[in-house]
Amino acid sequence: MTDPNPGPIRKVVIVGGGTAGWMAAAAAARYLDDGQRQVVLIESDAIGTVGVGEATIPPILGFNALLGIDERDFLRATGATFKLGIEFVGWDTGDDRYMHAFGGHGRDIQGLAFHQLWLKLRDRPGIGALEEYAPSAVAAYLHKFGQPGGQPPLAYAYHFDAGLYAAFLRRRAEAGGVTRIEGRITGTDRDPLTGHVRAVRLEGGQSVDGDLFIDCSGFRSLLLGETMGVAFEDWSHWLPCDRAVAVPTEPSTPLLPYTRATARTAGWQWRIPLQHRTGNGHVYSSAHISDDEATATLLANLDSKPTAEPRQLRFKAGRRERLWEGNVVALGLAGGFLEPLESTSIHLIQTGISKLFALFPDRGFSAVERDEYNRLMGDAYTSVRDFIILHYHATRRDDSAFWRHVRTMPIPDSLTRKLTLFRKNARIFRYDDELFGISSWVQVLLGQDVVPVGYDPIVDALDADRVADAVRQIRGATLRTAQALPGHGDFVATHGRFEGVPPMRSPVRT
Ligand SMILES: Cc1cc2nc3c(=O)[nH]c(=O)nc-3n(C[C@H](O)[C@H](O)[C@H](O)COP(=O)(O)OP(=O)(O)OC[C@H]3O[C@@H](n4cnc5c(N)ncnc54)[C@H](O)[C@@H]3O)c2cc1C
Repeated sequence: MTDPNPGPIRKVVIVGGGTAGWMAAAAAARYLDDGQRQVVLIESDAIGTVGVGEATIPPILGFNALLGIDERDFLRATGATFKLGIEFVGWDTGDDRYMHAFGGHGRDIQGLAFHQLWLKLRDRPGIGALEEYAPSAVAAYLHKFGQPGGQPPLAYAYHFDAGLYAAFLRRRAEAGGVTRIEGRITGTDRDPLTGHVRAVRLEGGQSVDGDLFIDCSGFRSLLLGETMGVAFEDWSHWLPCDRAVAVPTEPSTPLLPYTRATARTAGWQWRIPLQHRTGNGHVYSSAHISDDEATATLLANLDSKPTAEPRQLRFKAGRRERLWEGNVVALGLAGGFLEPLESTSIHLIQTGISKLFALFPDRGFSAVERDEYNRLMGDAYTSVRDFIILHYHATRRDDSAFWRHVRTMPIPDSLTRKLTLFRKNARIFRYDDELFGISSWVQVLLGQDVVPVGYDPIVDALDADRVADAVRQIRGATLRTAQALPGHGDFVATHGRFEGVPPMRSPVRT
């Protein structure tokens, strides 16, 4: 029989000390700090972390703010730079580029989405490209960053060293009372009646018990996958890239305030500028290119000198069917993986943490909270998945077997519905808690030449000449505002110059 008053969770055990583990620990130190609970994190230096994951999206600012992190301290500790968006190179024809900028473009007029007005007016003189109306895109291409006075703030995120971010959060979490245990987990004990995890066993015989277990053990999914047996839902038929090769290079100037994602013949290459190095990697489909060729492609397309040997990573797109089972909640790679094309993994960790605290259980582990969590997180993964598939599918490339495959493959119904609606009159709706807003979809769709047949007919009710004048003014003001900003490199140097790696354990083992 269910205990009607099971009492609060007294001990939280976090398994894993990568980005996910330390984000969860830092948040727990902040939010569970009522003297009632103990938070323990177990990690194994011998196993190490994935150690890539350098680009983020704007909600990371909210996470850092909730933890009371000062931006200057954060920049100095993690070598971070500012990110205004992602430049996509070669995704439509192979010879094209566009910016998916944060913060959207233009201004809605009389309730009409800006892109609808632009679609009607775009051939008129002085109207220009849609991205000229995106303040973050204009500033990014000018290599500028700052906050314009008297104007809406620029939307931005960060590029940072994920290992240093985990180390930075670790210092905060430990100061906030989280206990770290070093050791390799070799087994689990489960309650024979409920199947809940009672304790994890470490090499050497130590046993760590707990009420709630947060599985941040990486791709292996030690508790959710292995112990609880929650199956992996494989999405590789939509997202065939299953490997990456990564290499850091010397930092290059100018310091770009954006990520670059360049399409290659069987995948794509990232370029992420940090203060002390540039992160580079080639994400590819092993069914379409060999590891050696993928590495050669990466090394042939670097802006500066490599500072380490290339390192290979393997993965599969998809997620666990449920992210909360019994008394185990998985965060990060233990829950699922979507390639870093739109820098969403760290964000999904953040979402998982905030939903877990919003639905924090008691020791009864009611299905009500668990099911809601699984529904919300399932939707979060699915909406990101569709957005990433869009980049591959909306292409005219047919120069390799890889592009022919992704261009013609069947896509999820949810994405088909969005594409069909957009192709008619450029309408996009944001459903439920979808991460990417209308402006993001529009930028990628138009950026990859999905041109709608028409536009919202309500636009024709407006006086086109007057609207065109207003639109031209927005374009001019956007450019002038961006031009007045400081250079990104100068801003970073004065705002939070990197202090170097602190003398703690090396945060990343490869
Ligand atoms: C190629 C690539 C590029 C990426 N780029 C980005 C990006 O730009 N932006 C972004 O947001 N995300 C990116 N990601 C995702 C990002 O790296 C991860 O989401 C993030 O690092 C979280 O990893 P994690 O903490 O879940 O797992 P891991 O880093 O793998 O950490 C797992 C932890 O579990 C511990 N552990 C495992 N087994 C045991 C055991 N038996 N006993 C004890 N401890 C154990 C390990 O010691 C480690 O501490 C990228 C991922 C890949 C693969």
